[in-house]
Amino acid sequence: MAEEDSKFEIFLPDGTVYRPEKKEKKPTHYITGYDPDGKSKKMKFSTKTDCDRCGECCRRDTPIILKEDMPLLIEGIISERDIYTIREGESMRSSIDGEIYYTSMELIKIKPIFGTSICFFYDPEEGCTIYERRPYVCRIYECWSQNIPLTGIERLRLTRSDLFGEIDFIKETIKKQEENCSLFRFQDLIEELKKYKSQNTDKIAEMILYDLYLRDWLKEKLSITDDVLPLILGRSLLEIAPFFGLIIEREGENFVIKVLQEDE
Ligand code: SF4
Ligand code: SF4
Repeated sequence: MAEEDSKFEIFLPDGTVYRPEKKEKKPTHYITGYDPDGKSKKMKFSTKTDCDRCGECCRRDTPIILKEDMPLLIEGIISERDIYTIREGESMRSSIDGEIYYTSMELIKIKPIFGTSICFFYDPEEGCTIYERRPYVCRIYECWSQNIPLTGIERLRLTRSDLFGEIDFIKETIKKQEENCSLFRFQDLIEELKKYKSQNTDKIAEMILYDLYLRDWLKEKLSITDDVLPLILGRSLLEIAPFFGLIIEREGENFVIKVLQEDE
């Protein structure tokens, strides 16, 4: 008997009657496929029409935070420790095609679980731990639809200036970082190093040291912890260097800079 026709009932000791709820059926489609012998046969598949919290998108990437999400930060649903900045010119691996892209604008995102691409708020048992108050891009994302519901990200995105615009000290530190550790300059130096085997490793090391120095300085001046630095200054040059094709190892006060081969 089909599930929606079921008359199944249980009379409970307190006199109430339990009836299983009708489950909504997902739309079923048929395509022509082939069995292992090569004979054509109709194959059934169903599509989603709403979010069943499978978590597939949460394991693939972490969401961008928009101005719209400001109440989540104010109410502490998402804290300054849970988010980080992707600086302009920073390289990111696309969750869609796996290619590396350079961002044309600053973005603030939720941190991934260390060493993975999985969203920090994703729990394998529970799914999204802030589902009712999840960020805007998670709420409007429809994996079952071809629609791209978000346009004008440049205007909608949350920036460090929205968060720290009033704090001169932080504003100045971010400015100093851009002047001395621009990611465009960092990338140019690395390209020159790869192409001409030029002796600009000193300049690369100088940038890395300045970036580290700014972090220590900020920690000391504002008594902030390491986990807030990725929001104020983005990830360190040491961390992101592999995306630009460099492996940098620290040996005491010295750096050993290795260029990754294209096929590594
Ligand atoms: S939106 Fe994400 S969590 Fe919801 S069903 Fe689609 S992939 Fe799963
Ligand atoms: S905030 Fe929640 S819904 Fe959005 S990606 Fe993270 S775990 Fe998934």
